[in-house]
Amino acid sequence: MEEELMFRIIFVLTYSIFGSIRIYYRSQTIGRESEKEESLMDKPTIFLSVVILAYFASMFIYILIPNWIFWAHLDLHIVIRWAGLALAALGIGLLAWIHHTLGRQYAAKLEIQKEHALIKAGPYNKVRHPMYTVFILFSLAVALISSNLLMIVFAILIAIPFQWITQKEERMLTDQFGEEYQSYMKRTGRFLPLIRRKE
Ligand code: SAH
Repeated sequence: MEEELMFRIIFVLTYSIFGSIRIYYRSQTIGRESEKEESLMDKPTIFLSVVILAYFASMFIYILIPNWIFWAHLDLHIVIRWAGLALAALGIGLLAWIHHTLGRQYAAKLEIQKEHALIKAGPYNKVRHPMYTVFILFSLAVALISSNLLMIVFAILIAIPFQWITQKEERMLTDQFGEEYQSYMKRTGRFLPLIRRKE
């Protein structure tokens, strides 16, 4: 099989698995009423939505009309492209674990649910926003699979607004959980575990 076609099929398959997990957990939130909800009309969220729309449009072009996007093709070594697949598989596993742990606390928006519990277990034991880390990791991973510069640029653009979104999310959770969230913040990293020297 032609190499490019093979990587395009791998791209579609990995995205479909990742997307199915997202759709499954998103469907669990339909019709649910939250207790508090933050507005989605702030600049970082609008920026992220526009980037994601443009990203999906380019992805469909990459899948369906690849010739249109071939100008952005990079000659990444095949080992790097396979490493992209390994990273994507890791991302899928982590996403399932994270969603399972966050459970009914998950929402596509910044919300506090009725009887919202503060989750500090599993992936949340060391990192406050593992799901966002996985979004960034996964978009980078599939960018490596596609070996396309545009996909790499989108992966970087997606990472930027999470800096602000997490600040807002942490303010909301501090309002809700007070001291408990503050001490949780002290001992965890935002996107990656804290690296501490041994005492
Ligand atoms: N930012 C987290 C969660 C994303 S889902 C992550 O990247 O893993 C967004 C929802 O998760 C928000 O509505 C917020 O209320 C909730 N949330 C975030 N961290 C939480 C925690 N430690 N415990 C419970 N809910 C949390």
